Amino acid sequence: MLAERHAMVERQLRARGIVDERVLAAMERVPRELFVPPELHGRAYADAALPIGEGQTISQPYMVARICEELGLHGTERVLDVGAGSGYQAAVLAELAGEVHSIERIAALADHARELLDAAGYGDRVHVHVGDGSRGLPEHAPFAAIAVAAAAPNLPEALYEQLEMRGRLVVPVGNRWEQLLQVVVRTPEGPAVLRTVPCRFVPLIGAEGFDGR
Ligand code: SAM
Repeated sequence: MLAERHAMVERQLRARGIVDERVLAAMERVPRELFVPPELHGRAYADAALPIGEGQTISQPYMVARICEELGLHGTERVLDVGAGSGYQAAVLAELAGEVHSIERIAALADHARELLDAAGYGDRVHVHVGDGSRGLPEHAPFAAIAVAAAAPNLPEALYEQLEMRGRLVVPVGNRWEQLLQVVVRTPEGPAVLRTVPCRFVPLIGAEGFDGR
């Protein structure tokens, strides 16, 4: 698996323009195979999102790396991860920041993610919460960075409001089928969108997301 992980970093990430060496090293360290269902272990390093149950997915490695790179982390930040899913992105964020709060609306996935993060040794740095992450996590705000791994119809205002000044929010914004990954910085003048990248995520379901139908 080590060789496959290394090949993933070189071919899917570095070759496609991921340049932050801390992000590349984090992706090289986190054992993605622990976060995919046992029957999919053989595909853990495929260039794709994979099903994790409950109709949800673990994101494609490139998207995880891209979101992490866009957050511009240095190692001490408090980060919010919206859409814990398998817990994989939270583990990568834990390699890059000081403290990670990860929120998931489906309790069964949150419980499983917590178990996997503990087993992988990230239990002390990642706190998994159950709830509607489109409202953020006001009791732990402000955050230096917020990563959203599900598509929102608009920039979620509650999340923007929970950013520190100059903090970054990376969120897919669009309809249920296609979106642009927006990289947003909080400034005294309001949200500044640094970049947009085409992407495709499962919908964010909640107060500032889509409805659950
Ligand atoms: N980051 C995850 C990983 O590494 O496995 C992948 C996340 S998956 C693409 C998106 C997740 O967002 C799903 O598990 C889904 O249940 C969750 N989700 C959707 N709406 C949510 C909300 N309002 N609050 C929290 N989680 C939400």
